[in-house]
Order: sequence, then structure tokens, then C-alpha cells
Amino acid sequence: MTKNTDQHIAPRVGIISLGCPKALVDSERIITKLRSEGYDLVGTYEESDVVVVNTCGFLDSAKAESLEAIGEAIKENGKVIVTGCMGGDESAILDVHPAVLAVSGPQQYEAVIEAVHDVVPPLHDPFMDLVPEEGLHLTPRHYAYLKISEGCHNKCTFCIIPDIRGDLVSRQSNDVLYEAERLVRAGVEELLIISQDTSAYGQDIKYAESKWHDQMVAARMVDMVDAMSSLGAWIRLHYVYPYPSVDKVIPLMAEGKVLPYLDIPFQHASPDVLKAMRRPAHGEKTLDRLAAWRRDCPDLTIRSTFIVGFPGETEEDFELLLDWLDEAQIDRVGCFKYEAVDGAIANELPGVVDEDEKSDRWEQVMELQRQISESRLATKVGQTMDVIIDELDSEGAIGRTKGDAPDVDGSVFLDGDFDVEPGDIVKATIIEADEFDLWATRKD
Ligand code: SF4
Repeated sequence: MTKNTDQHIAPRVGIISLGCPKALVDSERIITKLRSEGYDLVGTYEESDVVVVNTCGFLDSAKAESLEAIGEAIKENGKVIVTGCMGGDESAILDVHPAVLAVSGPQQYEAVIEAVHDVVPPLHDPFMDLVPEEGLHLTPRHYAYLKISEGCHNKCTFCIIPDIRGDLVSRQSNDVLYEAERLVRAGVEELLIISQDTSAYGQDIKYAESKWHDQMVAARMVDMVDAMSSLGAWIRLHYVYPYPSVDKVIPLMAEGKVLPYLDIPFQHASPDVLKAMRRPAHGEKTLDRLAAWRRDCPDLTIRSTFIVGFPGETEEDFELLLDWLDEAQIDRVGCFKYEAVDGAIANELPGVVDEDEKSDRWEQVMELQRQISESRLATKVGQTMDVIIDELDSEGAIGRTKGDAPDVDGSVFLDGDFDVEPGDIVKATIIEADEFDLWATRKD
């Protein structure tokens, strides 16, 4: 620390960001602020004057991963500040790692910044021009997560996010749109819309209109993404619930204004389990809705997550889930074995499913989904489609179709030596598919 200020070298911060894209956006806000104050962001423990660990506290496995990351940072660097979801339970961190210098909860950006100042003060003359207009991002330059609200007003029994992050607080639509515009101006080609419940966006502010350039835009998912589509970037919707209002976004997908992609965390199909989970939209006839969406937008890709072994899930409920999956033909599926989260209401529910049974059900879902994914991807062979390039390697380029979100879905491998950069969108013909990925040749 002394060495830095004495020699007028910028103080250096390392950041470890764990958890979901929402936590990643929090990390981006922290680094944007620190960078605006003249801090350098570095990628190794040795270079860092202090390390910020943004934790995830959703599941016990995520907490264990967070504690492990904190332990490693203490061992390798020694000066560690902890924030994020797990930071809501300060004693759980300090009991294991008393050497942690400061702990703050999710979205407590100011507390993190102050803690960093205490360890290594900013230089007297902050270099404001070190921060690009669009802020700083931990994602590659060509895509960015755009958080449209904080918190959640649902009460799913397995989840403590509303307790940790509070009730739904939506941003004004013009605030989101101006941020989207800055990102696109800075070279972002793909905007990934995130929140805890994207389809609930604006409910808390009564879908208030706000002025973006010369138009009034309501804080409603469909109105906002329609306006955003004028920016020309790919727009991908995550964490959408199957409310009837989602029907209105399907025509925008069919018109090419929004990517034909919906990430809908269904979590289960049995009405009894969904009710016990208190899932939003649990009463909706989702199979009918999926069929109608696909009829109106045949290219639609659906991604979802499911939980098996939820308390009270009977063999009959599970069979219902398998039948539902078979009929729904969801393109991309993540499946989790139910884990009791400290403080969640579901812990009190009767009918705990034993671990072997959970594992068995999980294997069955994954095997069925592997077959579904393989057969759905096989239909893409021979089609020519847009592919956004994510990275180049020694064999060619790796990208994604409109049906693949970064990090969670599949890739398209393009062999050959051609002139592309990450973020370029090229036409490619699919020549091969397996259960998760595609191989293609470039067309243009
Ligand atoms: S929708 Fe349910 S699972 Fe998602 S954050 Fe809200 S309460 Fe948690």
C-alpha cells in the first residue's frame, strides 16, 4: 500500500466474482467505481494490494465454494474483503475466516468501496478518464449482462433471495435503455437481460413511462425490449416466467427484434410440487403455452432449470416431470438435486427425499434430456444460421447461435483460417451435431 502511494503507482485490486450473472453485474459496478477512482484491476494475488471476493450464498455448495475462495485469497494475498449474497451472514464468514477485513451484503457497493479505501486509499488525483462511458465489464467486450431490476417479490419456498436482496425494485425504462445504448456504442453486440423475475419487471413502479430520446417507454418487459431492439444488438431474455404477458414478446422474436430464446426456470412440472414450491405462474398451462409459442416462432429455443427431490416429490410427481419433459422438448436443461438452504421455508416441508433417490431421479432427467437435446440439435444440420464469434483458437473460431447463451448453453465450432474477431456475426452452415454442441463451416 505504502509502496503504491509513495511511488504514485495506482493501487491495485483483484476481484473474484462467484455466483450468478446478477452477482457478476454487482462486481462490475464495484470495479467501475474503483476504476473511476484510479484503482488498477489486476488478475493475480501477487499483484493485488487487496482482494475483493463477491460471494454466492444460495446453496450450501455455493457457500462452501465461497468459503474456499476466501480461504485461498487469504492464503495467497492476506488482505481480503468479502461481499455479496453470503455476506448477509457475517458470522458464517468470520467464524471460518477471522482474518477477513470487512464483510458486506449484496448490492452494498458503497460499503465495499469504503473497505477498499481503508486498506489501500485511492490516489489523490483520480483518473476519471480511465473509465469508459459504458462502465467496466467482466464479460468479453461483445456481450454484456443488463440488470433491469433488483430483488424479487415472489416467495418460492426453496429460496432466500428475497430475504437477502429484498423486494422487487425495477429500474426506470429510460435508465435501462440509456445503459443499453452506451453498451452498444462501446461495441457490445449482445445484451443479456437479467433480473430475478424478468417478466415481473415494472410491476412495483406500475409500469411507469419514462422518456428515452423522443419516445415514452413503459417499464414493461415487452415495451422495453421493443424499444431496445432499435439499437440493433442481439437481445436475449433470461429468468422469464411463463405468465400470459410473455405471449406478447413472441411476435417480437418472430420479427427478429429479440432473439428467439427464452430462459424460463420451470423447476418442475407436477402441480403439487410447483404449489409446494410456491412458484410464480405455477397454475399456467405451460405445455399449451409452449406449443403456441413454437407455432408462432418456430425457431424458438427454450432453456430451463429443474429441481428433483424437492420435499414431498413422490414417484408419481417425478414420472409426471419426465412425461412433461418428453412432451415439452425443452432445448436446454439444467437439473439440480434439491438442497436445503438455511432459512428457506421448504426445509420445514414433510416428505424429505433421500439422497440416493434424488441422485437416481437426477440421472434419469439428465439422460432423457441428453436424448432430447441430441435429437433437437440434429435437426439443425444443414441449416445456415447466424453465429456470433466468442473466441479464436488454433483450429478456427468458437461461437454461438441465437439459441445459445454464453456460459450455459452449447457452442458452434468453426474450423479453418478466416478473418474474424470476437463479436463478429457470421453466417455458417451446420455440418454436425452432438448432444450439446454444433460444428459448422463458414458461409459468407
Ligand atoms: S422467483 Fe423464486 S427462486 Fe427466483 S429469486 Fe424470486 S423467490 Fe427466489
